[in-house]
Amino acid sequence: MRILLFHGVVPDSYTDLPPKHMTESRFREVLDTLDDVFACKDIDIDNLPTGTAITFDDGYWNNYEIAWPILKEYGFPWTIFLTTGFIGTDRVIWTDKLRALLADPPDDVYDIISRWHKGYSELPDFDYDPMLSKFMTWDQVEIMNNDPMVDFGAHTVNHVSCGQVPDGVCETEIWGSLVKLHKEGLLTDPPLFAFPEGQPLDINGHAENTLEDFARNQRIEFAFAATKDWTSPNRYRLPREMIC
Ligand SMILES: [Zn+2]
Repeated sequence: MRILLFHGVVPDSYTDLPPKHMTESRFREVLDTLDDVFACKDIDIDNLPTGTAITFDDGYWNNYEIAWPILKEYGFPWTIFLTTGFIGTDRVIWTDKLRALLADPPDDVYDIISRWHKGYSELPDFDYDPMLSKFMTWDQVEIMNNDPMVDFGAHTVNHVSCGQVPDGVCETEIWGSLVKLHKEGLLTDPPLFAFPEGQPLDINGHAENTLEDFARNQRIEFAFAATKDWTSPNRYRLPREMIC
């Protein structure tokens, strides 16, 4: 079983891309190598499938605009893990803000980053390219949900590292995103969840227990990490390969 992790697909005219996005041509090259593609919700945790699953994290607008038409051509099922607090807003994820800040740093860039790092201030707003930073609207999510090949999963509300925030925040973030998906009629059976950042530091026992608690009501049977690098993988840390 391979689970591929993408974030965004953009037109070929883009060069010098942040690693989370790839061009249309590169995306097609990757898809051309796949034949046996399964949907994440169909994973039988006790009898893992062969073949490959396609996942996208965060919920960028370019998923709707660029990736969806291409995946329709190929007829592959795929899952988008939504950061629910960003969908339908102008919020920009901090890594995208930082990239924009460093691309054209103002004189006081050191001061800005230092204050932000110490928690005194937010990173300032810039003119962001919507193709690289904008999130989908809830209307777009609803339209995509009519496509039986598209499934949605949760990815916390504010894209936090569940392993590095206080336990209460971890619970609010995980449950908040799952409840929002439920309210929007997007929960699959079983419900799907992927950990933001998804590295060993970003997932701990408390986060797994939180999912398991939700699972008792809603049957969350497994969840997704963002690395293959586990000393002890389990059903809540299914490895994914980030594709660049
Ligand atoms: Zn993410």
